Amino acid sequence: MRYDIAIVGSGPAGLSAAINAKIRNKNIIVFGSKDLSSKVLKAPKVNNYLGLPGIDGKQLKDNFKKHIDSMGIEITEKKINNIYAMGEYFSIMANEEIFEATTVILATGVEFTKPIKGEEEFLGKGVGYCATCDAPLYRDKKVAIVGYNHEAEEEANYVNELAETVYYIPMYKDEISIDKEIEVIKDRPIEIQGENLVDKLVLKELSIDVDGVFFIKDSISPNHLMPGLEMEDGHIKVDRSMKTNIPGCFAAGDISGKPYQYIKSSGEGLVAGLSAVSYLDKK
Ligand SMILES: Cc1cc2nc3c(=O)[nH]c(=O)nc-3n(C[C@H](O)[C@H](O)[C@H](O)COP(=O)(O)OP(=O)(O)OC[C@H]3O[C@@H](n4cnc5c(N)ncnc54)[C@H](O)[C@@H]3O)c2cc1C
Repeated sequence: MRYDIAIVGSGPAGLSAAINAKIRNKNIIVFGSKDLSSKVLKAPKVNNYLGLPGIDGKQLKDNFKKHIDSMGIEITEKKINNIYAMGEYFSIMANEEIFEATTVILATGVEFTKPIKGEEEFLGKGVGYCATCDAPLYRDKKVAIVGYNHEAEEEANYVNELAETVYYIPMYKDEISIDKEIEVIKDRPIEIQGENLVDKLVLKELSIDVDGVFFIKDSISPNHLMPGLEMEDGHIKVDRSMKTNIPGCFAAGDISGKPYQYIKSSGEGLVAGLSAVSYLDKK
């Protein structure tokens, strides 16, 4: 099955792209989470969304949900790890599953956490962003998982089936539900060290010997998600029709630049959706 448009991200940008593509009868798939967007959900009060003054994030999210439900748009709850431009279509990987689409709209938001020292240097040499993808490389080894959300707990449980030791370092305060053999360390990662490969994770209070460190964040950097994307000031470079440098690939929302705001994201989602439709129609 090849979709017309794959939308990666279920925040205001992705959902706005989805409703506009659906209105134009395109065959779409939307990847994201059942909460739609943690950044929408967390807003205590929103005063700048036109027509909805004083709404809180939860109400806004419920309104988004009602809107997509009324149009029969479903969220496919999968984290996309890689997207490859294959020429005529895109290959979209969610762990072992592969989806195909003629166009892609990237609406994954931005990750505000800065990489720690050594994180980028050791990427692919013991540092990764998808524990379930790379778990087989760590059979009988020691792995640290730095989790920024609850999804990271599932990744830690999965790695724990193969690895000798798994350390879980939660970067949030909520309750943790994780296999009991996993050692939970409540501390702040500072640096990754090693020679050619990772051998140590330095935390504020202690250091642990590890062979691998995974950072499970809400979103990963766009050029790790899709090789070859042109960036500008840390965002995906787009033109006014939200086109990226890769034909058939569009980007919208926080990921395409500041200001980080709902209505800017929804507006750009609309433009990206319509541009993808026009790209398909020309084909
Ligand atoms: C506490 C708080 C309060 C705020 N208050 C306001 C306000 O009052 N007014 C305002 O205008 N803005 C506000 N903002 C900013 C606003 O939340 C963002 O600008 C907006 O949510 C960006 O929308 P987006 O669709 O680009 O990305 P997001 O809302 O971040 O959505 C991105 C989505 O992509 C998903 N995703 C990421 N990577 C992947 C992947 N690899 N595979 C599948 N899915 C993926 C994420 O899970 C998420 O669902 C606030 C933000 C916060 C944190």
